[in-house]
Amino acid sequence: MTPDEFRRFGHELIDWIADYRANLEAQPVMTVVEPGSIKTQLPATPPESAEPFAAVLADFREKIAPGLMHWQHPRFFGFFPSNGALSAVLGDLLSTGLGVLGLSWQSSPALSELEEVVCDWTRQLVGLSPAWSGVIQDTASTSSLVALVCARERSSAYGLARAGLQGGDARLAVYVSQMSHSSIEKAALLACFGRAFVRSIPVDDAFAMRADLLAEAIAQDLSAGITPCAIVATTGTTTTTAVDPLGPIGALAKRHGAWLHVDAAMAGSAMLLPECRWMWEGVELADSVVVNVHKWLGVSFDCSLYYVRDPEHLVRVMSTNPSYLQSAVDDRVKNLRDWGIPLGRRFRALKLWFLLREQGAEALRARLRRDMSNATWLETAVRAAPGWRVLAPVVLQTVCVRHEPAGLTREALERHTQAWAERLNASGQAYVTPAKLDDKWMVRVSIGALGTERVHVEALWQAMQAAAMLEAPR
Ligand code: PLP
Repeated sequence: MTPDEFRRFGHELIDWIADYRANLEAQPVMTVVEPGSIKTQLPATPPESAEPFAAVLADFREKIAPGLMHWQHPRFFGFFPSNGALSAVLGDLLSTGLGVLGLSWQSSPALSELEEVVCDWTRQLVGLSPAWSGVIQDTASTSSLVALVCARERSSAYGLARAGLQGGDARLAVYVSQMSHSSIEKAALLACFGRAFVRSIPVDDAFAMRADLLAEAIAQDLSAGITPCAIVATTGTTTTTAVDPLGPIGALAKRHGAWLHVDAAMAGSAMLLPECRWMWEGVELADSVVVNVHKWLGVSFDCSLYYVRDPEHLVRVMSTNPSYLQSAVDDRVKNLRDWGIPLGRRFRALKLWFLLREQGAEALRARLRRDMSNATWLETAVRAAPGWRVLAPVVLQTVCVRHEPAGLTREALERHTQAWAERLNASGQAYVTPAKLDDKWMVRVSIGALGTERVHVEALWQAMQAAAMLEAPR
């Protein structure tokens, strides 16, 4: 493709994206397609000769686009928001268009330095002290894996430089809450702690980790000769956005020399709001924190900010230094390859920079407040409706609900809950996520897509009631 063709097709594609975003509201949120139905429309073998690019775009419009779930839809209430503000979309396009890689500072100085600047801007916005240094990872899953590897290496006095896991007989435990995201357990297993050494700490009535039971678990391990290596606390759990008490958890971490990692993948964005800062009171006791600006804040996926208090330790664990990556300025710069797992680094900082400048903190705060107020509105409506229950405190923008018609057995209620959620999703009027809480099905309504206004939440509530009524066992 020549630059001129790129210009022509690029304009066409940007127009398509702009129209897509502008007209989303008229579309069903979820597209109902049969598994395999997209694949069968595509050739099983790759093209041997060149095809006109117009034909590729036509296939995209006709065969691929109809099979999409519309995450940017104003009535998307699933999972957590993955907002891609259009200014951030342009940042992503520019990053790819430039095609630069940050293998070292010298391999693209502006990439490294802009990343430092936007990580620090975001640090200030979320109220972390200047003691923290940040870097961009792809996802929170990666950030948490990096954190647990760093924890392991601190407890083992850099065992990786010796025999790694095969040397000595240290037994290291990791403590997570019952409500931690699945990526935390995955990170603990990938960091080779072993399932037998991952302690799942029960939660209280608000689904937050119980610090007293954490203390008990640590004491039990200590008496069995097991070292408390890492604690992972969550600010804003995935199921209900519960907030683990960082103060008491941090105090335990300090007392026992355990690494404290805070998973604020979702709620980190809310820390832009002074009224939400209570949620991570005690965060300064942590060793690492992850904030996904690719969730609620609006930076198009993927962009996960990982903050550490001891960058030297991070670099010592993660660094490699082959001759072909060395440069004359290495002693004066940050080589971000040493701040995480991949060597190659995309210019993700651009999309965060674009968003922060195009919106400004004030507009970002106003949007987050709008979403929290919409969640409160929905909570009030659900609480007032006979037969409906709100199942967890509404801390941020997620409301966990169940429709409980009288006289249903537990099994019938389970079927009813899944059935009305499925009916609602299949209707295309809104998209919600059924999930289990206390081992029973309920429905998570996660508010916060960029375009979601009160009117969309009102429409959702109407649609929820209609779906539950139609599914009510008679
Ligand atoms: N942590 C929490 C609390 C989450 O809610 C999620 C995803 O929703 C993750 C971690 C994983 O995020 P990522 O997809 O960036 O790995």
